[in-house]
Amino acid sequence: MKIVLQNLTKVFPSRNKKSNEEVVAVSDLSFTIPDGKLVGLLGPSGCGKSTTLYMISGLQKPTGGQIFFGEDDVTTLSPENRGVGLVFQNYALYPHMTVKQNILFPLQNLKGADKLDKNTMLERALEAARLVQIDNLMDRKPSELSGGQQQRVAIARALVKMPRVLLLDEPLSNLDARLRLQTREEIRRIQRETGITTIFVTHDQEEAMSISDVIVVMKLGVVQQIGKPQTVYDNPVNLFVAKFLGTPPINVFKANVKGGKLYINGEAVLDVQGVADREVFAAIRPEGFIPAENGAMTCTLSSIEVMGRDVSIVSKNEAMLTPTIRSIVDADYKISATAQTVKFDLKPHKVFIFDSETEERIYFGDQSAPETGI
Ligand code: ATP
Repeated sequence: MKIVLQNLTKVFPSRNKKSNEEVVAVSDLSFTIPDGKLVGLLGPSGCGKSTTLYMISGLQKPTGGQIFFGEDDVTTLSPENRGVGLVFQNYALYPHMTVKQNILFPLQNLKGADKLDKNTMLERALEAARLVQIDNLMDRKPSELSGGQQQRVAIARALVKMPRVLLLDEPLSNLDARLRLQTREEIRRIQRETGITTIFVTHDQEEAMSISDVIVVMKLGVVQQIGKPQTVYDNPVNLFVAKFLGTPPINVFKANVKGGKLYINGEAVLDVQGVADREVFAAIRPEGFIPAENGAMTCTLSSIEVMGRDVSIVSKNEAMLTPTIRSIVDADYKISATAQTVKFDLKPHKVFIFDSETEERIYFGDQSAPETGI
């Protein structure tokens, strides 16, 4: 099922009688999600991810704009009539019911023409349980399950009504690190197997990048960039997006362009032909540094951390705006741990520059603006 969001806006009125300050939770959001895709809605706390999801589900009414499922305008439809499956962070299972009863519950509440006979309901519940691999736990109560198993029950319960759209709001937040990893792969598998158009809300960029076909990065209710995870990582449109994606995070420096060269801390570190003289922010991905004896950029060495295949060089520089500079280099590079300084050449496609006022990207060399959309 294709989902179209058109100029979707949500404004919450002020709660404070003395001030008229409204909260614009989502502002003029427009994008189309093609049928069968898994979209990660990503951004820091308060950026409007959940509000967007609740508007798609029907739990919240937009202040403006429209929502289409396929050709149907569902903007004013109630949640029950939209055919959405919802999974929240807290699994919200009924504690006194068994797994089977929990999964059956949405089917037992179907009315009129949608009503199913008992056998069909049981079959459907078992099918959903098999899909999330909890069919061997049907007689347990939620308290007798692990967090990961409980979340699978919640997913089965959302799937049992065969929704047109599956909406997941931070579904992995209550799980420990290992289970998070496992469950996110499960969600990916289930989504592929069912082909249900799915929207997944998270503030965890790694999680969104690893399972989404497409990510939508939001800030303060406004979409910043939409694209394939790798494209957004390789080609961010502004400093916010560049900083939001990537572990370790991107290294940001105060810099300036003069005579077609990028200067960081007084050193000409890269050719940026075609860019007019100006103040900029330069952001360099950790994998963008090449240690070189006569490298263009000089940093003070803090420490070297060996991480198996890679080496992480931690260093400092007067112009840095992040607490340290973290560069990831191949373990083949031999760097003396007792050296005071380390010099780097830079990989041009791993260096992004941004206007120092608007923080919008300035493209140089063979860089060009990314394709947007899905
Ligand atoms: P988180 O990751 O913390 O859940 P989020 O990106 O999902 O954040 P939302 O919950 O959509 O963000 O909230 C967006 C903005 O709208 C926030 O500033 C929030 O305080 C505000 N907001 C959300 N719900 C309401 C409400 N019912 N009344 C007033 N303001 C609200």
